[in-house]
Amino acid sequence: MAEPTIFKRIIDREIPAKIVYEDDLCLAFEDIHPAAPTHLIVIPKKEIASLDDLTEADEGGVGHVLVAIAKIAAALQLDGGYRVVTNCGKAAGQEVMHLHFHLLAGRPFGWPPG
Ligand code: AMP
Repeated sequence: MAEPTIFKRIIDREIPAKIVYEDDLCLAFEDIHPAAPTHLIVIPKKEIASLDDLTEADEGGVGHVLVAIAKIAAALQLDGGYRVVTNCGKAAGQEVMHLHFHLLAGRPFGWPPG
């Protein structure tokens, strides 16, 4: 069997994380190497490797994660704006093969991203 990803181990509380939000379907925690003053990782609890692995059955679950991101942004009063990023695959820089959304805020963000 494949090794559980680091994010699955965070879901299972096998390794610590600074969890800021949790519900039945998703979890949000602070990125260990923050790239902005606010940098959270928001994940579905369901083990999905990346956007490439989504099926129509995941529409509700992933929609739920995006709504959770909006709730977290509101709770943190990220009124100046924020960026949500998902890296899909090696060329995009995906390191952890558990679908995740970076929620970044607290500094200006350039476009296009690097
Ligand atoms: P990605 O490159 O899109 O796969 O992003 C993976 C992110 O997970 C990176 O920003 C890492 O800093 C972050 N990360 C890796 N391990 C941990 C951990 N144990 N706790 C919190 N964030 C982590």
